[in-house]
Amino acid sequence: MAGLQLTNLTKRFGTTAAVYDFSLDVHDGELMCLLGPSGCGKTTTLRMIGGFITPDGGDILIEGHSVLALPPERRPTAMVFQRFNLWPHMTVTDNIAFGLRLRRLPAAAIHRKVGETLELVGLPHAAGKWPHQLSGGEQQRIAVARALVLEPKILLLDEPFSNLDARLRVRMREELKTLQRQVGITTVFVTHDQEEALTLADRIAVMNKGVMEQVDTPGVLYRRPQGLFVADFIGTMNLIQGRYHRDRGALVSGRLSVAGPGDWPDGATVTLAFRPEDVTVADGTAGIPAQVRRVVNLGHYLEVTVDSPGVGTIKVFTDGQQPMTEGQHVHIHFRRLLVYAEGTSPAEIDKPRLTHLDTAGEAVERSSSV
Ligand code: ATP
Repeated sequence: MAGLQLTNLTKRFGTTAAVYDFSLDVHDGELMCLLGPSGCGKTTTLRMIGGFITPDGGDILIEGHSVLALPPERRPTAMVFQRFNLWPHMTVTDNIAFGLRLRRLPAAAIHRKVGETLELVGLPHAAGKWPHQLSGGEQQRIAVARALVLEPKILLLDEPFSNLDARLRVRMREELKTLQRQVGITTVFVTHDQEEALTLADRIAVMNKGVMEQVDTPGVLYRRPQGLFVADFIGTMNLIQGRYHRDRGALVSGRLSVAGPGDWPDGATVTLAFRPEDVTVADGTAGIPAQVRRVVNLGHYLEVTVDSPGVGTIKVFTDGQQPMTEGQHVHIHFRRLLVYAEGTSPAEIDKPRLTHLDTAGEAVERSSSV
């Protein structure tokens, strides 16, 4: 049984739908990220799960039971917010114990649970400290402890690390993932940071303007985005507009022609999409001609921007083995392409056969596929 099910959730503020007909199954023990640009409805969705916002339509089921009628404090959920997490006038122990005291647990049980939870988040020595005596990362760990001590069935996290510096954010992600595995708690994590989602999540639900675009594992989302929104949003993707020419059996974009076994209508508008690591650049004569415009050394790889006349600007990642200089003439080869046409699922072309066209549209050169 799914740990958490959202079925056709809708929430309107005035006339605009912040979340529309949103359905999602989060499996027992799964770490699900809600990912999308600012304003796409992630926080609204999370707050509906926690009971802080009432949906206009749809249902929220935890272990098969609707929780819609329950106020936040009676739901089996606990939420960690982006900031203002700890009460500044309480010690760490009192912060963590607060919810347990509300539940009228005996003092000895509270003491034991607080101790265990502090161990769990790796801060056993912080018990007597005040929030201002802790670093940002430690404060967020205590905030997570305060949520976990209540033993919720679902842990909800709303961009909990976004106020931390980049290095600490990476470390906190790793810690959270380890902790989540250890406790085995079903978790929904909201972020607009795709790197955070890709490294943390078992699956990612990508949202756009209140609706679900795609839910999949990080690997599938990256390799096979179902639509152009996800293709463009996740990672770096080169996108080139073109048309399908049924008589030539080819997708043509300016001076680039790709043999395409498609059953799109003649003249259909298509978008060719390919990752920078699915393109290679080389000296020599085979391939599609291009000129290096910019080279950025990103440490373990180079990001090379090339201009191909009549095709466009393309980003390529190379391992730096072959030196690249600005202005250098190169040829590009493609390993893999995705083709998006309206109303159909993306078509994947491995080792595409490419032809370079002259300005009159005649073939002049062919790329060897790699
Ligand atoms: P961010 O990443 O910036 O936090 P988000 O994806 O979490 O964005 P939400 O906060 O869920 O987005 O907001 C979704 C939409 O609903 C936005 O257009 C926002 O302006 C609107 N909205 C959210 N809360 C309210 C509210 N209380 N009243 C009116 N509009 C709201």
